Amino acid sequence: MRVIPISLPTPFYIGPVNVYLIAEDPLTIIDTGPKTKETIDALRVGLRKAGFLVSDLRRIVLTHAHEDHCGLARSLRDEAKNAEVFVHNWETGHRHSRLEYEEHRTLLVRAGVPDSEIERMRGLYEYMRKYADSFGDDEYTSLWDDGELEFESGSLRILHTPGHTPGSCSFLREADRTIIAGDCVLKRITPNPVLSPDPIDPSRRFPSLAEYLVSLARLRSFSPTLVYGGHGEPIHDYEELFHRYFRAFQDRQGQVIGLIPKNGVTAWEAALKMFPQADDVHRFLSVSEAVAHLDLAHSEGKIALELNHQTEVYKPLS
Ligand SMILES: [Zn+2]
Ligand SMILES: [Zn+2]
Repeated sequence: MRVIPISLPTPFYIGPVNVYLIAEDPLTIIDTGPKTKETIDALRVGLRKAGFLVSDLRRIVLTHAHEDHCGLARSLRDEAKNAEVFVHNWETGHRHSRLEYEEHRTLLVRAGVPDSEIERMRGLYEYMRKYADSFGDDEYTSLWDDGELEFESGSLRILHTPGHTPGSCSFLREADRTIIAGDCVLKRITPNPVLSPDPIDPSRRFPSLAEYLVSLARLRSFSPTLVYGGHGEPIHDYEELFHRYFRAFQDRQGQVIGLIPKNGVTAWEAALKMFPQADDVHRFLSVSEAVAHLDLAHSEGKIALELNHQTEVYKPLS
């Protein structure tokens, strides 16, 4: 089974995105890149080099539904006629574009984000919408944990690896312990556990960092020899990266706990202290990061959490 990485341009700060062509029957692409002309042109070139056309695609599989990974899914599906789209059904919020829902607003209010800032974030995400088409519930097949994507000469095992987003999935080729991991594993940066409503109970937030740590450990249990990430080069030393991530998370947690004053902080205030330079879209990511670390520290019994009107305030243990 040939896995062919194709790097595609994106208009985003993160830079190019990696998509993966499984050059075997049924012809399958894992992730698509955002909906831009440059991206689809580059994808056509990549496919042609491998000897294929968009119309040859039979399956479009998404690691998760961020714009840089899922944006072209609908265009590719329409052009390929009979192609089937697969994405985990926990990607709901993202499939229908983020921050559109009241649930997201509630989470941001609870994190202490001021109304004016929420409006700004909303504006930015409205802008992001043009880079992806959304899918209705009857237009895709949900990926299921421990399922198999069958090919002519083997299969890819589906691993539900939540954390970066609730429905993030990775794909394992057991024969040589190769994993395609989307944004769950990136070589040069520690991926964000992005603030999301819990898919089971949208009034709560998804315990993204706790879930993420479980997913990283699960990937480690397969002793991967090669991990293909959503951005950057492939990873040959997952074990080393795994330890680096854990050290980074511990350092960050120590930093977050260290900046909680006696009278407490909201996640928004913590984010401003941690990332004073963050602007635009990075404000949302920095709140996500603060919430993720504060929640984990709270669930580990290291800090306290109080509700003050609608807002959550994290406090040192008394
Ligand atoms: Zn992502
Ligand atoms: Zn990405």
